[in-house]
Amino acid sequence: MPTMSLHSSQFRLLTDYLLNTALDVLFPPRCIGCGCVGSLFCARCQSEIVMPPVQRESGSPLDAWRASAEFGGAIQKAIHAYKYKNQRRFAVPLADRLADALAGSGWEPTLITAAPLHELRLNERGYNQSALLAERLAQAAGLPCRADIISRVRATRPQVGLNARERQANVADAFQAHDVAGASLVIVDDVYTTGATLRACAQALRSAGAARVWGLTVARAHIDVHNRAAARP
Ligand SMILES: [Zn+2]
Repeated sequence: MPTMSLHSSQFRLLTDYLLNTALDVLFPPRCIGCGCVGSLFCARCQSEIVMPPVQRESGSPLDAWRASAEFGGAIQKAIHAYKYKNQRRFAVPLADRLADALAGSGWEPTLITAAPLHELRLNERGYNQSALLAERLAQAAGLPCRADIISRVRATRPQVGLNARERQANVADAFQAHDVAGASLVIVDDVYTTGATLRACAQALRSAGAARVWGLTVARAHIDVHNRAAARP
């Protein structure tokens, strides 16, 4: 019955709102960087994180890419809480960083999209963290978001623990895209490590007729082949 579902969804919104407000009063958010009370990721900590410049790669299906930070410190903690501790509210400050990175990039996208999540991960976590970031970024930038235009067409292993060559092979031809002819797109992902996933997504978008493709991530990390655990984003 539509009336019932409308009422129950409104009731759900109201109870969620009251619950979140009560939780914020009882347990005020603390900054993940410095611990100060009042926000998840305070303005002072954010301003101390240097935003790396736009990067270009020769022979890449990506026109360029940019990360909003080097992986480490408060940004590492925030990404970890967001990805592995199910704290979706970190999508807001992290997507704000993406919006700043996009605003200073000189790119002129017509559409925002996201790297698809590994199916196993989607089942475990229940949401695609990159799609959620893409949606928030699109709202902030006043652009449309289509997180569903890139799909995984064959199974791949999680990239964690693989070296650069293994990562490239693992995701080669793993993706397909549709409805992007002539579009200029930004692909959102959480961490740029070797860029293998972003390039494979960009290649799928190009094959489907995309005009321009850029990559945007919250952080960039470096693989340490001697200590893979330490490099794990
Ligand atoms: Zn802080």
